[in-house]
Amino acid sequence: MKIIFLGSGGGRFATISQKRMTGGFRIDDFGGKNYQVDPGPGALVRSYQFGVNPTKIDGVFISHSHTDHYNDAEILIEAMTRGMTKNNGIIMGSQSVFEKVQRWGPAISSYHKSNSKNLILTPNKIARFPSFTIKGTETRHGDPTGVGFQIENNGFKISYTADTEYFDELPKYHKNADILIGSVLRPGPRSIRGHMCTDNFIDIVEQVKPSLAIMTHFGFKMIAANPVEEAIRVSKKTGVRTLAAFDGMKVDINEKYPERSKMIRLKDRFANRIKQEDVYSLNFESKPNKKRNNKKNNYDN
Ligand SMILES: [Zn+2]
Ligand SMILES: [Zn+2]
Repeated sequence: MKIIFLGSGGGRFATISQKRMTGGFRIDDFGGKNYQVDPGPGALVRSYQFGVNPTKIDGVFISHSHTDHYNDAEILIEAMTRGMTKNNGIIMGSQSVFEKVQRWGPAISSYHKSNSKNLILTPNKIARFPSFTIKGTETRHGDPTGVGFQIENNGFKISYTADTEYFDELPKYHKNADILIGSVLRPGPRSIRGHMCTDNFIDIVEQVKPSLAIMTHFGFKMIAANPVEEAIRVSKKTGVRTLAAFDGMKVDINEKYPERSKMIRLKDRFANRIKQEDVYSLNFESKPNKKRNNKKNNYDN
């Protein structure tokens, strides 16, 4: 079993600038199947960039209808169904992925829904399949139907908070997780509406006590604060080994001792084509305007 990060960025501005990649992540070899989670902008291209085959997926999970989570969903569904010529796989996610809910969604067309199983997840809803069981987990975020998950195979559980702010019941949804993956947009104690900061993640890790915790979905301020330092802080505070995701990170899961899982940097097959920094400098002024940066803001919201 492995978890592969096709991006570790999140929020509008890290996404628009591609300061970090935003392809979400894959859970591979889970009960013999591969799943793409939250395919944001670039998921398809990043798959090739890190040597992962996008046609070899059995399911796509989309937590909510924000572009940094659903942008590449349709093209990955096409990859999963051989260009919509085969019935294959399962699409799982929030109600807003499949139908319009207030001003949200649908994130995918009726056409793209038609060749795969569809599963609308809601908090505490459990669906059982031969190779896995999935439970929806609550989120408190912009999209009112947004949902995280806990998937289980053979007693091994991976939990994903998706985008949410911290609330008292949040750890309960993720209890018994062997591996807990959190969207931690901001560093330190600086949470903003709808998102977790590192201190919130410490709270949830302390209560869930997974064997391994992984932080991802970093916004501008988190990237500036150095996610690795923040992850070390979580590890020290909680006693739980905590990793900060990076673009192209593969975690080879040790199922017996998840805390001993191996972290590997996948080869960037596009390394000679274009550098991330070049993309960044194309889009944003290289000398940030200090005044604006200091403004009380929701820059990385
Ligand atoms: Zn997001
Ligand atoms: Zn969101």
